[in-house]
Amino acid sequence: MTARPPGPVVRVTPRRQNGDMPTLETTPKIRARMSKQRSHDTSIEITLRRILHAAGFRYRVHRKPLKGMRREADILFGPARIAVFVDGCFWHGCPEHATWPKNNAGFWREKIEKNRARDLDTDARLAAAGWLSVRVWEHESAVEAAERIAALVRERRPGPGRSTAEAATEYTARLVAG
Ligand SMILES: [Zn+2]
Repeated sequence: MTARPPGPVVRVTPRRQNGDMPTLETTPKIRARMSKQRSHDTSIEITLRRILHAAGFRYRVHRKPLKGMRREADILFGPARIAVFVDGCFWHGCPEHATWPKNNAGFWREKIEKNRARDLDTDARLAAAGWLSVRVWEHESAVEAAERIAALVRERRPGPGRSTAEAATEYTARLVAG
């Protein structure tokens, strides 16, 4: 996590639409990325966390919600039992940005389908344990995602009260002010 805010713009747009897809070249960088499968601390994730924090919510970052399940949530609200996953549009097969690579199509399709199946399985296991899985696409607006999450956390555990809209405005003003 960098100390520097991601920038003055809170609305986050997809970083890669096309032409920038990873290829099957097995460079160390690509391998590392594939093994990780989830890019931690993407700009939406950081912005989302800052807005929620500014709104008074407290959470844990990159934790496993369930013991024995080797899956890490990006943002975890323990008492409310909410696990937030910020899913990369490419790796998790976002319906809006599903730019399936043409080279080695079978390989990538299998890879992405496997991730999707794993996501569904994670959600089901969490639900069975009384948790709510909230999925946020990398391309989503951080403000809207924060509002959605805040409402769910409040619903499941009445807590701190500032509105996320107010917190987002303050956050943006602070960034602009430097
Ligand atoms: Zn997307």
